[in-house]
Amino acid sequence: MTVRTPIDLQTLNREELERLAEEMGEPRYRGRQLFKWIYGKGATSVEQMTDLPRAFRAELARRARITRLEPVRQLTAGDQTVKVLFRLPSGRHVESVLIPDFDEETGRVRRLTVCVSSQVGCAMGCAFCATGLMGFQQNLTAGEIYDQVWQLNRLAEERFGRRITNVVYMGMGEPLLNYDAVLRSVALLTDRDGLGLSPRRITVSTVGLARRIRQLADDGVRFRLAVSLHAPTNAQRSAIMPVNRNEQTDLDDLIEAIRYFEARTGQTITYEYCLFEGFNDRPEDAHRLADLTEQAPGKVNLILYNPVEGLPFRRPSEERLQAFIRVLVDRGVTVTVRRSRGQDINAACGQLAVREQTASEA
Ligand code: SF4
Repeated sequence: MTVRTPIDLQTLNREELERLAEEMGEPRYRGRQLFKWIYGKGATSVEQMTDLPRAFRAELARRARITRLEPVRQLTAGDQTVKVLFRLPSGRHVESVLIPDFDEETGRVRRLTVCVSSQVGCAMGCAFCATGLMGFQQNLTAGEIYDQVWQLNRLAEERFGRRITNVVYMGMGEPLLNYDAVLRSVALLTDRDGLGLSPRRITVSTVGLARRIRQLADDGVRFRLAVSLHAPTNAQRSAIMPVNRNEQTDLDDLIEAIRYFEARTGQTITYEYCLFEGFNDRPEDAHRLADLTEQAPGKVNLILYNPVEGLPFRRPSEERLQAFIRVLVDRGVTVTVRRSRGQDINAACGQLAVREQTASEA
């Protein structure tokens, strides 16, 4: 006797759901109905899909299941940033963060951003990162990435009375090492029957895998791209980011790939630059960074580091930050500063999941 593994509906896209409906002897539009239930309404079981014929539901319930992430912990910071720790069907954990941005004058919520994870752990081993300490453990499916956003969108509606506005792939993992699932999840997020987000409000952030950046350009993606630069020379970058030690993914190749991406898509990228005291925050570093933005245009997003226990990196003083900004502005670079949010709840990527893993291994 062969036992068939149930199909996980949460991993299928619109096209695949339509095909499944057809294979089961139903018209294609039943697949669209399935899509709306799974991705639009967040159904957790086939029984909830009351507009599907009873016999189809019964057969689906026998053959398929819907896997949702289980929220196991929720922490709210003083600045209203919420971090949620989810348990995956594999038993491993990922983190997602809901970041409200308030209008200083009115106190109203201006933007609600969800930061999602695309992998458990990460193979890239950046020296300053809590997730890097875990090593790579698994890729998430498109449905698992989508479900983080869906659940945090519901939380946003409950807490702030409005839907989320932006999604950033800046949680655990290197999104471009889980390329297909990330692109599929973006398609779900932008589908009008999913969350209906504009691709311009979705940012995928990469450590800078040149070959994959070229592939994104060839695939004609419409979401925004952010590249984690964190150092303006090969020597500095290689010291903190092992990815840079390979000559196929070093700074020179990265800049070439960004130029290719910008030429093909007509978009400019964002350079993420995390300032580490005494390492990459000197005026000469700012000048070198400005030189790079002349070779491949992009705005610079300076990040103030959330220190991670056991790692030697510190954030610079406000004076050093201001001096760094002054150089960039004088050189005509567009600069924004991201002050890390939710510091009182370990909001740096991976910190909560690392703790969860350490606790479960103890
Ligand atoms: Fe991976 Fe990003 Fe952490 Fe680097 S910073 S180890 S790419 S999760």
